Amino acid sequence: MHSILDLQLAPALDDRVSFEAAINENAANAGASTGNRRKRSLVNYSKLWANGRTLKIAFMDNPEVEHKQKIIDIASQWMQYVNLNFDFVEGKEGDIRIATETPYNSSVLGTDALIIVPYQATLNLGVKPGHEDFVTIVLHEFGHALGAMHEHQHPKANIPWDKPKVYQHYQTREMNPLTKEQVDQNIFTPFDSFEALYLDYDRKSIMHYPVLNSLTLGNWHISTNRKISKKDKQLMRLLYPK
Ligand SMILES: [Zn+2]
Repeated sequence: MHSILDLQLAPALDDRVSFEAAINENAANAGASTGNRRKRSLVNYSKLWANGRTLKIAFMDNPEVEHKQKIIDIASQWMQYVNLNFDFVEGKEGDIRIATETPYNSSVLGTDALIIVPYQATLNLGVKPGHEDFVTIVLHEFGHALGAMHEHQHPKANIPWDKPKVYQHYQTREMNPLTKEQVDQNIFTPFDSFEALYLDYDRKSIMHYPVLNSLTLGNWHISTNRKISKKDKQLMRLLYPK
């Protein structure tokens, strides 16, 4: 049995502020570049970093050298597929700010990091290096930090969820229980973004939650994905072309 840790996508606090930060960073976030398939609206914009940019990435606390290096090595896997540079800096100032002394594993989506107050982390990695899901979680949270959504919320995912059981499972689990609203936000609500238009649903995506058979109708499950999938690579190449 895989342990299912919290891999939450933290929601933006204020849609207007979030929208403005996204557009200031990268005008293409408004949707103009995707042609007429996509509506221009406040709920339908992207949060991608400006292509070609260097992202300063800082640690808010002081993980041990080895711990820190593992996070850097794993996160840097994404760099092969994007036209972005990751600059892991000393000190606490960064576009992306990582906390490790936290019970949570979560990240804000892409440019939402710009609207988080400077003394707060934008990416929480409470998972410890010895944990079997360490690599999965670091890759997954950095995927969000680059603007990737949850794959299980792909409009074409059609997962046969047993909804009452899903609510019960996530609301009552011991580690990081979710509210009903958080279950809706992180599991059920389909997203509508670049990604949905570009690429097909991919059950191997690192952005897909594991799905327990006991939480679906019939015989349907997905075990923990542990690496960046072919589709994840394709998506990143589309979002940040070289
Ligand atoms: Zn997530």
